[in-house]
Amino acid sequence: MQLFAIFGDPVHHSKSPLMHNSVFQYFDIKACYTRILLKDGSKLKERFLELGLSGANITIPHKEAAYNACDEIRGFARKVGVVNTIVNENGKLIGYNTDADGFIFAIEEFKNIKRVLVLGAGGTAKALVQKFLDEGMDVSILNRSPKRLQEFEQLNVKLFTWENFKNEEYDLVVNTTSAGLEDDSLPVPKELLEKILSHTRYVADAIYGKLTPFLQEAKKRSIPYKDGTDMLLGQGVLASWLFLDKQYDKHLIKKVMKQSLQLS
Ligand code: NDP
Repeated sequence: MQLFAIFGDPVHHSKSPLMHNSVFQYFDIKACYTRILLKDGSKLKERFLELGLSGANITIPHKEAAYNACDEIRGFARKVGVVNTIVNENGKLIGYNTDADGFIFAIEEFKNIKRVLVLGAGGTAKALVQKFLDEGMDVSILNRSPKRLQEFEQLNVKLFTWENFKNEEYDLVVNTTSAGLEDDSLPVPKELLEKILSHTRYVADAIYGKLTPFLQEAKKRSIPYKDGTDMLLGQGVLASWLFLDKQYDKHLIKKVMKQSLQLS
């Protein structure tokens, strides 16, 4: 029996156990996926090995710690320094990032996205910003505090805090902050958000399973929006390929995972 887990803090909201366990069940794979509350990200490798995991996903706030915990980093994760999926290869922790491709898949139906405003500057923002740049988009980042913005200074992006923000026209505004995940807070102060939402065509939130206060504001203004469910499914499908070392049909896995979400 193989054991998989998601590490995070908080982690009780995560739907990853449902999604992956339903895939194991569907394909009759002897494996189980659970949640692990991890307070100290520097203990990730120790916990992973102690539990004898075959693989794991990593969520807030440990995706950067996960990068440091790995013995080897592959693919897009090398570019962004952020890991959301780890596979145990003969006792070695191999790190990947499946969030960014999952997000691009999620916004497929939003057409002609050229200018993007990313709210937040954490692990998810890093992955999405790099992906948007790779796709040739013009990217601005707005974060509550200046510290995390420093990590984006080498990139061709515009960086703002709430204090010095200059609004422009955007095709898409994405919330990658955790504001609204556990509470009813907005990712930016309300007056700023009003300005931002009056200058965008589309809105997306990485948070899934709820209409966040941010998305409620978009809905009020009839702006087409997406919550993080499709992103969740997209990253989950790609993670399951890595966990199972087999590329089962993408659409079939997505369907199985999506059905499991309806159980919650
Ligand atoms: P991190 O902890 O790395 O970053 C959090 C970011 O949110 C920081 O920029 C922080 O700003 C900002 N922030 C936190 N609280 C507030 C607040 N109250 N108001 C404004 N800004 C705030 O988190 P991740 O990047 O790993 O995850 C972010 C969110 O994305 C989570 O809600 C997570 O669940 C979701 N997610 C969803 C996925 C999906 O598949 N749908 C995949 C990945 C993530 P500061 O620097 O000022 O502290």
